[in-house]
Amino acid sequence: MRDVRGDFPIPSRTFAGRPLVYLDNAATSQKPRAVLQAMQRFYEQSNANAHRGVYRLAEEASAALEGAREAVRRFIGAADAAEVVFTRGTTESINLVAQGWAARRLRQEDELVVTELEHHSNFLPWQRVAQQTGAKLRVLPVDFLGAPQFDELGAHTKLLAFSQVSNVLGTILPAKRLIQAARARGAAVLIDAAQSVPHLPLSVQDLDCDFLAFSSHKMLGPTGIGVLWARRDRLEETEPLLLGGGMVREASVEHSTWLAAPQKFEAGTQPIAEAVGLRAAIEYLETLGMDAVEKHARELSSHAVRQLSQVPGVRVHAALAERAAVVSFQVDGAHPHDVAASLDQHAICVRAGHHCAQPLMRKLSVAGTVRASIQIYNTLAEIDLLAAALAEL
Ligand code: PLP
Repeated sequence: MRDVRGDFPIPSRTFAGRPLVYLDNAATSQKPRAVLQAMQRFYEQSNANAHRGVYRLAEEASAALEGAREAVRRFIGAADAAEVVFTRGTTESINLVAQGWAARRLRQEDELVVTELEHHSNFLPWQRVAQQTGAKLRVLPVDFLGAPQFDELGAHTKLLAFSQVSNVLGTILPAKRLIQAARARGAAVLIDAAQSVPHLPLSVQDLDCDFLAFSSHKMLGPTGIGVLWARRDRLEETEPLLLGGGMVREASVEHSTWLAAPQKFEAGTQPIAEAVGLRAAIEYLETLGMDAVEKHARELSSHAVRQLSQVPGVRVHAALAERAAVVSFQVDGAHPHDVAASLDQHAICVRAGHHCAQPLMRKLSVAGTVRASIQIYNTLAEIDLLAAALAEL
């Protein structure tokens, strides 16, 4: 991992003579030079609109976009690149399923189920669907370590939507068991993979879910692009939310028809350079191997739990075993924002607040937490710096 660190410009920065310790990776990750260079190369050599022109430069741009789609397909183990839809990120992907699929299909007698630890991006879109359709929104309780209780799944459940990894507790939810429980009741499943795709090996075919949403910027790629993967039949059932150029088969004054997925959902000019950057990020992660990436996150987060638990006055809220790259904690007598501001004086970047998961904060009976989140360039020594700074505080 020492070799990896040199690939990333920002982790080598200093603030007032102190080395930067970037531990806010669950918010967004830093980018390796390979990603930045791939995007620059695209703009310098291949920039044109995709799927528009017949000249060779335009064909290069189209090939760049479709090459990125194929890289995503491979990375998430999908059967067909046509099941990979580019969006702006996890939030847009989930809203597309909520309004394009769920709001059109659910009825008053149906139920939508989410868990108590969802990010607002996987909660508010379903709350709106429930308001629009009269369907009931149920919340699957989690215990204090983030393990879900299965009892709330009923015969009327039409959709189960859950985060594979909690952005607050780092808990890795038992996705396969949840999916099997939902399937047994005939429900569709959406996985919010914003915090899992960057850290865990994953295959949508193996998981057997219906929808999977994630963002490029949390997995070493650029902002402005993300993915909705869905099984082909689900994409056929989903209506596009954005209408316009590039998604139409035939338009007339009376009536218009759409192209098949994924173009049906990709109206307007696509984020082509960002797709190129996402592909470079995927290839970078593939070179490291996702097993090694996962192992590194588990090692560092276990080390963080051990070290932080030993600091007097620090209370760690973290899943014990099935934990990915996130550790949340509290410092007795100090507001999380004050803790984060104080850590910034040590050039340590952590997030403080409710982490867009207010229902979970209520469950934990806290207004917010401090969150340290890890990526491949972080080191054990950086975790020790965090523990030492907290001890001083
Ligand atoms: N879901 C989870 C679990 C997240 O952690 C986040 C971002 O923090 C999101 C959804 C939203 O991702 P984005 O802001 O990239 O759309």
